[in-house]
Amino acid sequence: MEQKLGNPQKTIEIIKKYDFAFQKKFGQNFLIDPHVLDKIIRAAKVTKEDCVLEIGPGIGTMTQYLAEQARYVAAVEIDKNLIPILEETLKEYSNVAIINDDILKVDIKKLVREYNDSRPIKVVANLPYYITTPIIMGLFESDVPIDNITVMVQKEVADRMQSGPGSKDYGALSLAVQYYAQPYIAANVPPNCFIPRPSVGSAVIRLTRHKEPPVQVKDPGLMFRLIRASFNQRRKTLQNSLNNSPEVDYPKGIIAEAIESLKVSPTVRGETLTLEQFAQLANYLSAQQPCG
Ligand code: SAM
Repeated sequence: MEQKLGNPQKTIEIIKKYDFAFQKKFGQNFLIDPHVLDKIIRAAKVTKEDCVLEIGPGIGTMTQYLAEQARYVAAVEIDKNLIPILEETLKEYSNVAIINDDILKVDIKKLVREYNDSRPIKVVANLPYYITTPIIMGLFESDVPIDNITVMVQKEVADRMQSGPGSKDYGALSLAVQYYAQPYIAANVPPNCFIPRPSVGSAVIRLTRHKEPPVQVKDPGLMFRLIRASFNQRRKTLQNSLNNSPEVDYPKGIIAEAIESLKVSPTVRGETLTLEQFAQLANYLSAQQPCG
């Protein structure tokens, strides 16, 4: 290898050589710190058996690290101006596929079938922050076979993903993520580890997909509607939030009974409920008749 990327000099050299213009709309902040890159790869537990999906390879910095550790890397990059750069920086790796596409439009199941025989893949990315939640929730909800997702996200978003009841960061995202996976924050990363520097702090979070969901819910869609309704009006009581929500269609009396079945105060707020309690609430309601 000519020289590995992942340091400021080499990154600037490549950017100048190709006269590359950063596009803010694509959330382009490239990693320039080898220690952070090592930490991400270690947190993801990538081995020679693994097929890794990298979202947004940029100039190929993390892709080089991944290609050395994994069996195969499929890297999906939206910006066509980065493709010639990736072809150069990754030319020595025969185990990398560069795909010029929007990750939100890619048929990832098909990709997993093609590159990993439909066995679970690992997803590793320094994510474009403007679409962090749709990417992660899209991966979980579409039932793509996944072992773990290890991603750089905004620090505040990582905190929300791993919070529990009683924390100000606890919310619908915490519950949605924790229904599908076990979160673990592997590192906090300051803005000076990127070119250009983002205006926010970042963190590396690993989401290890549960083999079985941690709660049994007959109608997960209903549980997520209850969760959204509870946190849309988080200062209101759970009863009022659910009564007022256009997404929750049960008579007030039934909602009161459902809350009573949790053996909590009738004036409880949704933000104090655990995932198990939301599951219980959903299971109680799905056995009742909604409003006609
Ligand atoms: N992985 C590189 C690194 O760590 O230096 C770049 C990370 S940068 C934060 C995010 C990357 O995602 C950029 O290369 C950007 O062009 C790409 N990207 C943004 N939106 C995308 C999308 N919808 N699909 C695929 N890639 C996208």
